[in-house]
Amino acid sequence: MQTLPTFDLVLFGGTGDLAMRKLLPALYRRTCAGQVCADTRIIGAARSDLSREQYLAQVKSNCEAHLDGEFNERMWESFARCVDYCKVDAGEDLDYAALSRLLEGREDHVRIFFMSTAPNLFALICEGLARHSLVTSASRVVLEKPLGEDLVSSRQINERVGTAFREPQIFRIDHYLGKETVQNLLALRFGNMLFEPLWRRGRVRHVQITLAEDVGVERRAQFYDQTGALRDMVQNHLLQLLCIIAMEPPATANPDAMRDEKLKVLHALRPLAGNDARNNTVRGQYKAGAIAGQPVIGYLDEKDVPPNSVTETFVALKVEIDSWRWAGVPFYLRTGKRLQEKQSEIVVTFEDVPHALYERPEQLHSLNRLVIQLQPEEGITLNVLAKSPGEGMRLRPAELSLDFAEYFNGQRLDGYERLLTDIINGNLTLFMRRDELDAAWAWIDPIREAWQQYEERPKAYIAGTWGPAAASSLIVRDGFVWRNEL
Ligand code: NAP
Repeated sequence: MQTLPTFDLVLFGGTGDLAMRKLLPALYRRTCAGQVCADTRIIGAARSDLSREQYLAQVKSNCEAHLDGEFNERMWESFARCVDYCKVDAGEDLDYAALSRLLEGREDHVRIFFMSTAPNLFALICEGLARHSLVTSASRVVLEKPLGEDLVSSRQINERVGTAFREPQIFRIDHYLGKETVQNLLALRFGNMLFEPLWRRGRVRHVQITLAEDVGVERRAQFYDQTGALRDMVQNHLLQLLCIIAMEPPATANPDAMRDEKLKVLHALRPLAGNDARNNTVRGQYKAGAIAGQPVIGYLDEKDVPPNSVTETFVALKVEIDSWRWAGVPFYLRTGKRLQEKQSEIVVTFEDVPHALYERPEQLHSLNRLVIQLQPEEGITLNVLAKSPGEGMRLRPAELSLDFAEYFNGQRLDGYERLLTDIINGNLTLFMRRDELDAAWAWIDPIREAWQQYEERPKAYIAGTWGPAAASSLIVRDGFVWRNEL
Protein backbone atom coordinates (compact mmCIF):
# COMPACT_ATOMS: atom_id res chain seq x y z
CA MET A 1 0.00 0.00 0.00
CA GLN A 2 1.14 3.51 -0.79
CA THR A 3 2.69 5.67 1.91
CA LEU A 4 0.40 8.52 2.88
CA PRO A 5 1.56 12.12 2.57
CA THR A 6 2.86 13.58 5.82
CA PHE A 7 -0.12 14.89 7.73
CA ASP A 8 -1.09 16.62 10.97
CA LEU A 9 -4.33 15.28 12.39
CA VAL A 10 -5.94 17.16 15.24
CA LEU A 11 -8.45 14.84 16.87
CA PHE A 12 -11.04 16.94 18.72
CA GLY A 13 -12.75 14.65 21.22
CA GLY A 14 -9.43 12.79 21.35
CA THR A 15 -10.24 11.34 24.79
CA GLY A 16 -13.73 10.18 23.81
CA ASP A 17 -15.21 6.79 23.02
CA LEU A 18 -15.02 6.98 19.22
CA ALA A 19 -11.42 8.24 19.23
CA MET A 20 -10.23 5.60 21.67
CA ARG A 21 -12.21 2.65 20.30
CA LYS A 22 -12.01 3.27 16.56
CA LEU A 23 -9.98 6.22 15.30
CA LEU A 24 -6.70 5.82 17.16
CA PRO A 25 -6.61 2.01 16.68
CA ALA A 26 -7.31 2.62 12.95
CA LEU A 27 -4.35 5.03 12.75
CA TYR A 28 -2.18 2.53 14.65
CA ARG A 29 -3.05 -0.18 12.10
CA ARG A 30 -2.14 2.10 9.20
CA THR A 31 1.17 2.79 10.95
CA CYS A 32 1.77 -0.98 11.21
CA ALA A 33 0.99 -1.26 7.49
CA GLY A 34 3.84 1.20 6.83
CA GLN A 35 1.56 3.92 5.45
CA VAL A 36 2.21 6.61 8.07
CA CYS A 37 5.53 8.44 7.75
CA ALA A 38 7.57 9.28 10.82
CA ASP A 39 7.05 13.04 10.45
CA THR A 40 3.27 12.72 10.84
CA ARG A 41 1.56 14.20 13.92
CA ILE A 42 -1.61 12.99 15.58
CA ILE A 43 -2.74 15.44 18.24
CA GLY A 44 -5.54 14.48 20.62
CA ALA A 45 -7.50 17.55 21.77
CA ALA A 46 -10.09 17.75 24.55
CA ARG A 47 -10.84 19.71 27.72
CA SER A 48 -9.09 17.30 30.12
CA ASP A 49 -5.80 18.61 31.42
CA LEU A 50 -3.51 15.74 30.44
CA SER A 51 0.23 15.51 29.88
CA ARG A 52 1.43 13.82 26.69
CA GLU A 53 2.49 10.80 28.80
CA GLN A 54 -0.93 10.51 30.44
CA TYR A 55 -2.63 10.70 27.06
CA LEU A 56 -0.29 8.13 25.54
CA ALA A 57 -1.05 5.76 28.43
CA GLN A 58 -4.78 6.02 27.64
CA VAL A 59 -4.24 5.55 23.92
CA LYS A 60 -1.97 2.56 24.51
CA SER A 61 -4.39 0.71 26.76
CA ASN A 62 -7.20 1.32 24.27
CA CYS A 63 -5.14 0.15 21.31
CA GLU A 64 -4.24 -3.00 23.26
CA ALA A 65 -7.89 -3.57 24.15
CA HIS A 66 -9.34 -2.93 20.70
CA LEU A 67 -6.79 -4.52 18.42
CA ASP A 68 -7.41 -8.19 19.19
CA GLY A 69 -3.87 -9.56 19.41
CA GLU A 70 -2.52 -7.21 16.69
CA PHE A 71 -0.80 -4.95 19.21
CA ASN A 72 2.96 -5.13 19.52
CA GLU A 73 5.42 -2.99 21.48
CA ARG A 74 7.78 -2.28 18.60
CA MET A 75 5.02 -0.87 16.39
CA TRP A 76 3.57 0.98 19.35
CA GLU A 77 6.88 2.80 19.82
CA SER A 78 6.83 4.11 16.25
CA PHE A 79 3.12 5.03 16.47
CA ALA A 80 3.57 6.73 19.86
CA ARG A 81 6.29 8.98 18.43
CA CYS A 82 3.60 10.58 16.22
CA VAL A 83 1.06 11.11 19.01
CA ASP A 84 0.73 14.26 21.11
CA TYR A 85 -1.95 15.92 23.21
CA CYS A 86 -3.21 19.49 23.51
CA LYS A 87 -5.82 20.70 25.97
CA VAL A 88 -8.46 22.55 23.96
CA ASP A 89 -11.80 23.63 25.35
CA ALA A 90 -13.94 24.46 22.32
CA GLY A 91 -15.02 27.78 23.83
CA GLU A 92 -11.63 28.84 25.20
CA ASP A 93 -9.64 31.16 22.94
CA LEU A 94 -6.33 30.73 24.75
CA ASP A 95 -6.41 26.98 24.07
CA TYR A 96 -6.43 27.55 20.29
CA ALA A 97 -3.31 29.65 20.71
CA ALA A 98 -1.59 26.65 22.35
CA LEU A 99 -2.70 24.43 19.44
CA SER A 100 -1.45 27.04 17.02
CA ARG A 101 2.02 26.87 18.59
CA LEU A 102 2.07 23.08 18.12
CA LEU A 103 1.24 23.40 14.42
CA GLU A 104 3.55 26.32 13.67
CA GLY A 105 5.94 25.83 10.76
CA ARG A 106 3.96 22.87 9.39
CA GLU A 107 1.65 24.83 7.11
CA ASP A 108 2.73 22.88 4.02
CA HIS A 109 1.50 19.55 5.34
CA VAL A 110 -1.98 18.14 4.91
CA ARG A 111 -3.82 19.31 8.02
CA ILE A 112 -6.90 17.49 9.25
CA PHE A 113 -9.29 18.60 11.97
CA PHE A 114 -11.39 15.60 12.97
CA MET A 115 -14.54 16.55 14.94
CA SER A 116 -15.17 13.59 17.19
CA THR A 117 -17.17 15.66 19.66
CA ALA A 118 -20.86 16.36 20.15
CA PRO A 119 -22.19 18.03 16.96
CA ASN A 120 -23.10 21.23 18.82
CA LEU A 121 -19.35 21.92 19.11
CA PHE A 122 -18.49 21.48 15.40
CA ALA A 123 -19.22 25.06 14.37
CA LEU A 124 -17.72 26.57 17.53
CA ILE A 125 -14.46 24.71 16.98
CA CYS A 126 -14.30 25.60 13.27
CA GLU A 127 -14.80 29.27 14.11
CA GLY A 128 -12.05 29.05 16.76
CA LEU A 129 -9.69 27.48 14.21
CA ALA A 130 -10.45 30.20 11.67
CA ARG A 131 -9.97 33.00 14.25
CA HIS A 132 -6.52 31.68 15.02
CA SER A 133 -5.60 31.28 11.32
CA LEU A 134 -5.19 27.54 11.72
CA VAL A 135 -7.12 26.72 8.54
CA THR A 136 -4.58 26.49 5.72
CA SER A 137 -5.31 25.76 2.06
CA ALA A 138 -4.25 22.15 2.71
CA SER A 139 -6.67 21.79 5.63
CA ARG A 140 -9.64 19.47 5.82
CA VAL A 141 -12.35 19.13 8.40
CA VAL A 142 -14.07 15.85 9.20
CA LEU A 143 -17.59 15.95 10.62
CA GLU A 144 -19.00 12.95 12.46
CA LYS A 145 -22.67 12.04 12.38
CA PRO A 146 -25.28 13.07 13.29
CA LEU A 147 -24.88 16.45 11.67
CA GLY A 148 -27.65 18.34 13.39
CA GLU A 149 -30.99 17.02 14.50
CA ASP A 150 -33.15 18.24 11.62
CA LEU A 151 -32.85 20.23 8.39
CA VAL A 152 -32.76 23.59 10.15
CA SER A 153 -30.04 22.72 12.68
CA SER A 154 -28.01 20.83 10.08
CA ARG A 155 -28.10 23.87 7.79
CA GLN A 156 -27.00 26.11 10.63
CA ILE A 157 -23.98 23.89 11.38
CA ASN A 158 -23.05 23.64 7.70
CA GLU A 159 -23.42 27.37 7.27
CA ARG A 160 -21.06 28.12 10.16
CA VAL A 161 -18.56 25.40 9.23
CA GLY A 162 -18.70 26.82 5.70
CA THR A 163 -17.38 30.18 6.89
CA ALA A 164 -14.10 28.47 7.87
CA PHE A 165 -13.82 25.70 5.26
CA ARG A 166 -14.76 25.52 1.59
CA GLU A 167 -17.07 22.65 0.58
CA PRO A 168 -14.23 20.56 -1.01
CA GLN A 169 -12.42 20.75 2.35
CA ILE A 170 -15.37 19.26 4.26
CA PHE A 171 -15.53 15.48 4.79
CA ARG A 172 -18.89 14.37 6.26
CA ILE A 173 -18.20 10.87 7.37
CA ASP A 174 -20.48 7.84 7.19
CA HIS A 175 -18.45 4.86 8.35
CA TYR A 176 -20.73 2.35 6.58
CA LEU A 177 -19.51 3.73 3.26
CA GLY A 178 -15.96 2.85 4.32
CA LYS A 179 -16.77 -0.82 4.38
CA GLU A 180 -15.01 -2.88 1.73
CA THR A 181 -18.29 -4.60 0.84
CA VAL A 182 -20.08 -1.34 0.12
CA GLN A 183 -17.32 -0.36 -2.28
CA ASN A 184 -17.42 -3.85 -3.69
CA LEU A 185 -21.07 -3.31 -4.37
CA LEU A 186 -20.04 -0.41 -6.61
CA ALA A 187 -17.39 -2.65 -8.21
CA LEU A 188 -19.96 -5.38 -8.71
CA ARG A 189 -22.48 -3.03 -10.30
CA PHE A 190 -20.21 -0.88 -12.41
CA GLY A 191 -17.24 -3.19 -13.04
CA ASN A 192 -19.24 -6.12 -14.42
CA MET A 193 -21.80 -6.53 -17.17
CA LEU A 194 -23.69 -9.20 -15.28
CA PHE A 195 -25.91 -7.32 -12.85
CA GLU A 196 -26.60 -3.91 -14.36
CA PRO A 197 -29.17 -5.11 -16.95
CA LEU A 198 -31.09 -6.77 -14.10
CA TRP A 199 -30.75 -3.84 -11.72
CA ARG A 200 -34.19 -2.32 -12.27
CA ARG A 201 -37.95 -2.69 -12.08
CA GLY A 202 -39.25 -5.75 -13.88
CA ARG A 203 -36.14 -7.66 -12.80
CA VAL A 204 -35.79 -6.73 -9.12
CA ARG A 205 -38.80 -7.57 -6.99
CA HIS A 206 -37.81 -5.82 -3.79
CA VAL A 207 -34.81 -4.73 -1.76
CA GLN A 208 -34.22 -5.08 1.99
CA ILE A 209 -31.59 -3.27 4.01
CA THR A 210 -31.11 -4.33 7.63
CA LEU A 211 -28.70 -2.77 10.11
CA ALA A 212 -29.29 -4.79 13.28
CA GLU A 213 -27.36 -4.35 16.51
CA ASP A 214 -27.49 -6.70 19.48
CA VAL A 215 -26.13 -4.04 21.85
CA GLY A 216 -28.31 -1.57 23.74
CA VAL A 217 -27.56 2.13 24.23
CA GLU A 218 -24.40 1.34 26.23
CA ARG A 219 -22.84 4.52 27.64
CA ARG A 220 -24.52 6.80 25.10
CA ALA A 221 -28.05 6.88 26.55
CA GLN A 222 -28.15 10.65 26.99
CA PHE A 223 -27.21 11.22 23.37
CA TYR A 224 -29.37 8.37 22.09
CA ASP A 225 -32.52 9.42 23.92
CA GLN A 226 -32.35 12.82 22.23
CA THR A 227 -31.76 11.20 18.85
CA GLY A 228 -33.52 7.86 18.30
CA ALA A 229 -33.02 5.27 15.58
CA LEU A 230 -34.48 7.37 12.73
CA ARG A 231 -31.93 10.16 13.14
CA ASP A 232 -29.07 7.99 14.40
CA MET A 233 -29.22 5.35 11.65
CA VAL A 234 -31.78 6.00 8.91
CA GLN A 235 -30.97 9.62 8.04
CA ASN A 236 -27.37 8.71 7.32
CA HIS A 237 -26.34 5.03 7.05
CA LEU A 238 -29.54 3.49 5.70
CA LEU A 239 -30.22 6.27 3.20
CA GLN A 240 -26.62 6.24 2.01
CA LEU A 241 -26.73 2.48 1.43
CA LEU A 242 -30.04 2.87 -0.38
CA CYS A 243 -28.43 5.51 -2.61
CA ILE A 244 -25.53 3.20 -3.48
CA ILE A 245 -27.99 0.47 -4.47
CA ALA A 246 -30.38 2.72 -6.39
CA MET A 247 -28.15 5.30 -8.08
CA GLU A 248 -27.58 5.45 -11.82
CA PRO A 249 -24.07 4.63 -13.07
CA PRO A 250 -22.08 7.88 -12.82
CA ALA A 251 -20.31 9.01 -15.98
CA THR A 252 -16.93 9.10 -14.23
CA ALA A 253 -15.41 8.01 -10.92
CA ASN A 254 -15.06 11.67 -9.98
CA PRO A 255 -16.42 12.27 -6.43
CA ASP A 256 -18.98 14.83 -7.60
CA ALA A 257 -20.25 12.57 -10.39
CA MET A 258 -20.95 9.91 -7.76
CA ARG A 259 -22.48 12.38 -5.34
CA ASP A 260 -24.69 13.88 -8.07
CA GLU A 261 -26.20 10.44 -8.71
CA LYS A 262 -26.80 9.78 -5.01
CA LEU A 263 -28.48 13.16 -4.70
CA LYS A 264 -30.88 12.28 -7.54
CA VAL A 265 -31.98 9.19 -5.60
CA LEU A 266 -32.63 11.25 -2.46
CA HIS A 267 -34.70 13.68 -4.50
CA ALA A 268 -36.68 10.80 -6.02
CA LEU A 269 -37.67 9.28 -2.65
CA ARG A 270 -41.44 9.36 -2.35
CA PRO A 271 -42.21 11.67 0.60
CA LEU A 272 -43.49 10.01 3.75
CA ALA A 273 -45.65 12.53 5.57
CA GLY A 274 -48.89 12.43 7.57
CA ASN A 275 -50.80 9.19 7.08
CA ASP A 276 -48.27 7.88 4.55
CA ALA A 277 -45.62 8.03 7.25
CA ARG A 278 -47.95 6.31 9.66
CA ASN A 279 -48.74 3.49 7.24
CA ASN A 280 -45.23 2.91 6.00
CA THR A 281 -43.12 3.15 9.13
CA VAL A 282 -42.93 1.17 12.37
CA ARG A 283 -41.26 2.48 15.52
CA GLY A 284 -40.26 0.20 18.35
CA GLN A 285 -38.65 0.33 21.79
CA TYR A 286 -37.02 -2.68 23.46
CA LYS A 287 -38.25 -4.23 26.67
CA ALA A 288 -36.25 -6.55 28.93
CA GLY A 289 -35.32 -9.83 27.28
CA ALA A 290 -32.26 -11.96 26.58
CA ILE A 291 -29.41 -11.73 24.08
CA ALA A 292 -27.44 -14.91 23.45
CA GLY A 293 -28.98 -16.45 26.56
CA GLN A 294 -28.03 -13.53 28.83
CA PRO A 295 -30.80 -11.41 30.41
CA VAL A 296 -30.77 -7.72 29.44
CA ILE A 297 -32.79 -4.79 30.78
CA GLY A 298 -35.35 -2.79 28.82
CA TYR A 299 -34.65 0.64 27.31
CA LEU A 300 -36.60 2.53 29.97
CA ASP A 301 -34.47 0.93 32.71
CA GLU A 302 -31.18 1.96 31.09
CA LYS A 303 -29.12 4.52 33.02
CA ASP A 304 -29.85 8.12 31.91
CA VAL A 305 -33.06 7.21 30.04
CA PRO A 306 -36.14 9.08 31.36
CA PRO A 307 -38.78 6.60 32.60
CA ASN A 308 -41.41 7.95 30.20
CA SER A 309 -39.16 8.19 27.13
CA VAL A 310 -40.87 7.65 23.76
CA THR A 311 -37.58 7.50 21.82
CA GLU A 312 -37.55 4.70 19.25
CA THR A 313 -34.76 2.11 19.41
CA PHE A 314 -36.10 0.39 16.29
CA VAL A 315 -37.52 1.63 13.03
CA ALA A 316 -38.69 -0.13 9.89
CA LEU A 317 -39.82 1.68 6.74
CA LYS A 318 -41.20 0.91 3.33
CA VAL A 319 -39.66 3.34 0.88
CA GLU A 320 -40.44 3.92 -2.77
CA ILE A 321 -38.31 5.63 -5.37
CA ASP A 322 -40.21 7.52 -8.03
CA SER A 323 -37.92 7.00 -11.00
CA TRP A 324 -38.05 5.09 -14.29
CA ARG A 325 -35.63 2.52 -12.94
CA TRP A 326 -37.32 1.84 -9.61
CA ALA A 327 -41.02 2.74 -9.87
CA GLY A 328 -43.03 0.03 -8.11
CA VAL A 329 -40.04 -1.71 -6.47
CA PRO A 330 -40.36 -1.45 -2.68
CA PHE A 331 -37.28 -0.87 -0.55
CA TYR A 332 -37.70 -2.09 3.04
CA LEU A 333 -35.31 -0.60 5.57
CA ARG A 334 -34.96 -1.52 9.23
CA THR A 335 -32.56 -0.91 12.06
CA GLY A 336 -32.66 -1.45 15.78
CA LYS A 337 -30.85 -2.01 19.01
CA ARG A 338 -31.02 -5.16 21.13
CA LEU A 339 -32.11 -7.26 18.19
CA GLN A 340 -31.42 -10.97 18.00
CA GLU A 341 -27.96 -10.63 16.52
CA LYS A 342 -25.57 -8.13 15.04
CA GLN A 343 -26.26 -8.36 11.36
CA SER A 344 -26.09 -5.79 8.58
CA GLU A 345 -27.04 -6.80 5.10
CA ILE A 346 -28.58 -5.68 1.84
CA VAL A 347 -30.77 -8.20 0.06
CA VAL A 348 -31.75 -7.69 -3.56
CA THR A 349 -34.48 -10.18 -4.49
CA PHE A 350 -34.98 -10.77 -8.19
CA GLU A 351 -38.19 -11.62 -10.01
CA ASP A 352 -39.14 -15.23 -10.52
CA VAL A 353 -38.71 -16.95 -13.91
CA PRO A 354 -41.76 -16.42 -16.13
CA HIS A 355 -42.23 -20.14 -16.72
CA ALA A 356 -41.12 -22.93 -14.38
CA LEU A 357 -39.72 -25.74 -16.49
CA TYR A 358 -38.41 -27.93 -13.70
CA GLU A 359 -39.62 -29.15 -10.35
CA ARG A 360 -38.90 -26.41 -7.83
CA PRO A 361 -38.84 -26.08 -4.07
CA GLU A 362 -42.18 -25.26 -2.45
CA GLN A 363 -40.68 -22.31 -0.58
CA LEU A 364 -41.34 -19.51 -3.02
CA HIS A 365 -39.24 -16.97 -1.17
CA SER A 366 -35.92 -18.71 -1.62
CA LEU A 367 -35.32 -17.82 -5.25
CA ASN A 368 -32.68 -15.56 -6.81
CA ARG A 369 -31.26 -13.18 -4.27
CA LEU A 370 -28.08 -11.20 -4.00
CA VAL A 371 -27.10 -10.87 -0.34
CA ILE A 372 -24.50 -8.26 0.48
CA GLN A 373 -23.31 -8.94 4.02
CA LEU A 374 -21.78 -5.96 5.85
CA GLN A 375 -21.62 -7.27 9.42
CA PRO A 376 -20.44 -9.28 11.27
CA GLU A 377 -18.58 -10.73 8.27
CA GLU A 378 -18.27 -9.00 4.92
CA GLY A 379 -19.12 -10.94 1.78
CA ILE A 380 -21.49 -11.37 -1.13
CA THR A 381 -23.69 -14.38 -1.80
CA LEU A 382 -25.83 -15.05 -4.84
CA ASN A 383 -28.72 -17.43 -4.17
CA VAL A 384 -29.55 -19.47 -7.24
CA LEU A 385 -31.48 -22.64 -7.99
CA ALA A 386 -29.40 -25.61 -9.10
CA LYS A 387 -30.17 -29.20 -9.95
CA SER A 388 -29.85 -31.46 -6.91
CA PRO A 389 -27.65 -34.53 -7.46
CA GLY A 390 -29.38 -37.72 -8.53
CA GLU A 391 -32.13 -38.50 -10.91
CA GLY A 392 -34.55 -36.04 -12.43
CA MET A 393 -34.43 -32.28 -12.83
CA ARG A 394 -35.27 -31.23 -9.32
CA LEU A 395 -34.11 -27.74 -8.40
CA ARG A 396 -32.76 -26.85 -4.98
CA PRO A 397 -31.42 -23.58 -3.56
CA ALA A 398 -27.63 -23.20 -3.86
CA GLU A 399 -25.20 -20.38 -3.09
CA LEU A 400 -22.36 -18.72 -4.98
CA SER A 401 -20.35 -16.98 -2.29
CA LEU A 402 -17.48 -14.53 -2.17
CA ASP A 403 -15.75 -14.12 1.18
CA PHE A 404 -13.49 -11.10 0.69
CA ALA A 405 -11.12 -11.82 3.57
CA GLU A 406 -10.52 -15.36 2.32
CA TYR A 407 -10.34 -14.58 -1.40
CA PHE A 408 -8.11 -11.54 -1.14
CA ASN A 409 -5.78 -13.05 1.42
CA GLY A 410 -7.13 -11.30 4.50
CA GLN A 411 -6.00 -7.83 3.33
CA ARG A 412 -8.76 -5.72 4.79
CA LEU A 413 -9.15 -2.19 6.09
CA ASP A 414 -11.91 -1.47 8.53
CA GLY A 415 -14.36 1.35 7.65
CA TYR A 416 -12.54 4.07 9.58
CA GLU A 417 -9.10 3.01 8.30
CA ARG A 418 -10.32 3.26 4.74
CA LEU A 419 -12.03 6.61 5.29
CA LEU A 420 -9.09 8.10 7.17
CA THR A 421 -6.74 7.21 4.30
CA ASP A 422 -9.22 8.76 1.85
CA ILE A 423 -9.31 11.96 3.93
CA ILE A 424 -5.52 12.12 4.10
CA ASN A 425 -5.36 11.58 0.32
CA GLY A 426 -8.11 14.16 -0.22
CA ASN A 427 -10.55 11.76 -1.90
CA LEU A 428 -14.14 12.94 -1.32
CA THR A 429 -15.97 10.12 -3.11
CA LEU A 430 -17.25 8.35 -0.01
CA PHE A 431 -18.23 11.50 1.89
CA MET A 432 -21.56 13.28 1.85
CA ARG A 433 -21.86 16.60 0.11
CA ARG A 434 -23.91 19.30 1.78
CA ASP A 435 -26.81 19.05 -0.67
CA GLU A 436 -27.06 15.30 -0.02
CA LEU A 437 -27.32 15.95 3.68
CA ASP A 438 -30.00 18.61 3.15
CA ALA A 439 -32.00 16.23 0.93
CA ALA A 440 -31.75 13.43 3.50
CA TRP A 441 -32.98 15.67 6.34
CA ALA A 442 -35.73 17.11 4.15
CA TRP A 443 -37.04 13.56 3.63
CA ILE A 444 -36.63 12.51 7.29
CA ASP A 445 -38.20 15.54 9.02
CA PRO A 446 -41.82 14.93 7.85
CA ILE A 447 -41.65 11.38 9.23
CA ARG A 448 -40.80 12.68 12.70
CA GLU A 449 -43.45 15.37 12.38
CA ALA A 450 -46.06 12.71 11.55
CA TRP A 451 -45.02 10.61 14.54
CA GLN A 452 -45.40 13.68 16.76
CA GLN A 453 -48.71 14.65 15.17
CA TYR A 454 -50.27 11.23 15.82
CA GLU A 455 -48.60 10.95 19.26
CA GLU A 456 -48.01 7.26 18.78
CA ARG A 457 -45.80 5.55 21.32
CA PRO A 458 -43.19 3.18 19.89
CA LYS A 459 -44.34 -0.44 19.83
CA ALA A 460 -42.73 -2.67 22.44
CA TYR A 461 -40.45 -5.52 21.40
CA ILE A 462 -38.61 -8.01 23.54
CA ALA A 463 -34.83 -7.61 23.50
CA GLY A 464 -33.31 -10.49 21.55
CA THR A 465 -36.07 -10.63 18.92
CA TRP A 466 -36.19 -9.01 15.48
CA GLY A 467 -38.30 -6.04 16.57
CA PRO A 468 -42.05 -5.46 16.88
CA ALA A 469 -44.48 -7.77 15.07
CA ALA A 470 -45.67 -4.76 13.07
CA ALA A 471 -42.30 -4.70 11.27
CA SER A 472 -43.04 -8.16 9.90
CA SER A 473 -46.55 -7.09 8.90
CA LEU A 474 -45.13 -4.08 7.04
CA ILE A 475 -43.48 -6.39 4.53
CA VAL A 476 -45.82 -9.42 4.73
CA ARG A 477 -48.75 -7.31 3.54
CA ASP A 478 -46.90 -6.93 0.21
CA GLY A 479 -46.34 -10.70 0.02
CA PHE A 480 -42.68 -10.70 1.13
CA VAL A 481 -40.78 -11.54 4.32
CA TRP A 482 -37.57 -10.33 5.93
CA ARG A 483 -34.73 -12.68 5.04
CA ASN A 484 -34.26 -13.85 8.64
CA GLU A 485 -37.92 -14.95 8.64
CA LEU A 486 -37.65 -17.11 5.52
P1 NAP B 1 -17.74 11.03 23.91
O1 NAP B 1 -17.19 9.73 24.35
O2 NAP B 1 -18.76 11.68 24.78
O3 NAP B 1 -16.50 12.02 23.71
C1 NAP B 1 -16.67 13.40 23.55
C2 NAP B 1 -15.31 14.02 23.46
O4 NAP B 1 -15.49 15.44 23.35
C3 NAP B 1 -14.42 13.80 24.66
O5 NAP B 1 -13.10 13.63 24.23
C4 NAP B 1 -14.57 15.08 25.45
O6 NAP B 1 -13.42 15.22 26.24
C5 NAP B 1 -14.66 16.09 24.32
N1 NAP B 1 -15.34 17.34 24.71
C6 NAP B 1 -16.52 17.47 25.34
N2 NAP B 1 -16.82 18.77 25.51
C7 NAP B 1 -15.81 19.48 24.96
C8 NAP B 1 -15.54 20.87 24.81
N3 NAP B 1 -16.36 21.80 25.29
N4 NAP B 1 -14.41 21.22 24.16
C9 NAP B 1 -13.55 20.30 23.68
N5 NAP B 1 -13.76 18.97 23.79
C10 NAP B 1 -14.87 18.56 24.42
O7 NAP B 1 -18.39 10.96 22.46
P2 NAP B 1 -18.13 9.86 21.33
O8 NAP B 1 -19.00 8.68 21.59
O9 NAP B 1 -16.67 9.64 21.19
O10 NAP B 1 -18.72 10.58 20.04
C11 NAP B 1 -18.07 11.64 19.39
C12 NAP B 1 -18.82 12.00 18.12
O11 NAP B 1 -18.82 10.89 17.25
C13 NAP B 1 -20.28 12.36 18.34
O12 NAP B 1 -20.68 13.31 17.39
C14 NAP B 1 -21.00 11.04 18.06
O13 NAP B 1 -22.33 11.23 17.67
C15 NAP B 1 -20.14 10.51 16.92
N6 NAP B 1 -20.18 9.05 16.80
C16 NAP B 1 -19.79 8.26 17.84
C17 NAP B 1 -19.81 6.87 17.68
C18 NAP B 1 -19.35 5.95 18.78
O14 NAP B 1 -19.38 4.73 18.56
N7 NAP B 1 -18.94 6.44 19.92
C19 NAP B 1 -20.24 6.31 16.47
C20 NAP B 1 -20.60 7.17 15.43
C21 NAP B 1 -20.57 8.54 15.61
P3 NAP B 1 -13.34 16.18 27.55
O15 NAP B 1 -14.52 15.82 28.38
O16 NAP B 1 -12.02 15.86 28.14
O17 NAP B 1 -13.39 17.52 27.01
